[in-house]
Amino acid sequence: MEPGFTLRASCPLCNAGDSRRLCEIPYSEARMAKFLAEFYHGRVPLGKLHPETYRVVACEQCGFIYQDKILDVVGMQALYQHWVDHAYSLSKKRKAGEGLYRQYAGQVQTLLRALRIRPDQVRLLEYGMGWGYWSRMAQAHGIEVTGFELSGERAEHARGMGLRVIDELPPPGAHYDCIYANQVFEHLPDPLPALQSLCERLAPGGLVYLRVPDGRGVARHLSRRGWSPLLEAIHPLEHINCFTRKTLIDLAARAGLRPLSPPPRLDCRSLVSGLKREFADRFLTTHVLFRRG
Ligand SMILES: [Zn+2]
Repeated sequence: MEPGFTLRASCPLCNAGDSRRLCEIPYSEARMAKFLAEFYHGRVPLGKLHPETYRVVACEQCGFIYQDKILDVVGMQALYQHWVDHAYSLSKKRKAGEGLYRQYAGQVQTLLRALRIRPDQVRLLEYGMGWGYWSRMAQAHGIEVTGFELSGERAEHARGMGLRVIDELPPPGAHYDCIYANQVFEHLPDPLPALQSLCERLAPGGLVYLRVPDGRGVARHLSRRGWSPLLEAIHPLEHINCFTRKTLIDLAARAGLRPLSPPPRLDCRSLVSGLKREFADRFLTTHVLFRRG
């Protein structure tokens, strides 16, 4: 079967049929072909995308921005199995600096503070776990982690790090206290049913932590003449949904979720105890860092 395209004729968020076109560029056009060739390291058979066009629309009802012409099931499989450069993606993760792990740890700790459950009692699902590095950080915090991942290569890598991986969700029920999905929902042809299905696996009062690229200003950028496909939030082929905070909250509301203020990262107690710890670490404790020579 050859990859093809399919049309999302109604808004994936509110189902309205009226939309206005923000941008349309044939995949054969030089700026698009150049971008795809560079981004995918020459792995996308550009001829197979012709005569289709990259098209971004905004829903007249809810304002959601999305690509209405997207790869069909065969095309999506080709994209995520063969066109994406897995070795490059893994090497980026492997070479990540300390900052990425600090971000991961911060996100896990945000979830734990919001859940107010002891880590060993938390059952967490990472939906779209990729190579598994975030889940490994959650596991290192004592959490019981399950990762959902469709890519066999990524799932195998995550299993190799000692993580539990599934490629099919369990039947509906209160399986998880918390579901985390980072950079997933911008890729999904049907984001609302996907989120509703996750919520059916969440314990009452459970949390969902969604992180997607920020689509602020995208409509303005796309409307400019000569726009080149570089924008992360509405990336051709992959980022077929472009969320703002408003539309992300709107999507979640339709799945029965309401936004929660994140617990403060710093409070006076942690500031004072942090300063005391800094002082003790430098001058008092027997926890000492050494370097030879
Ligand atoms: Zn809509």
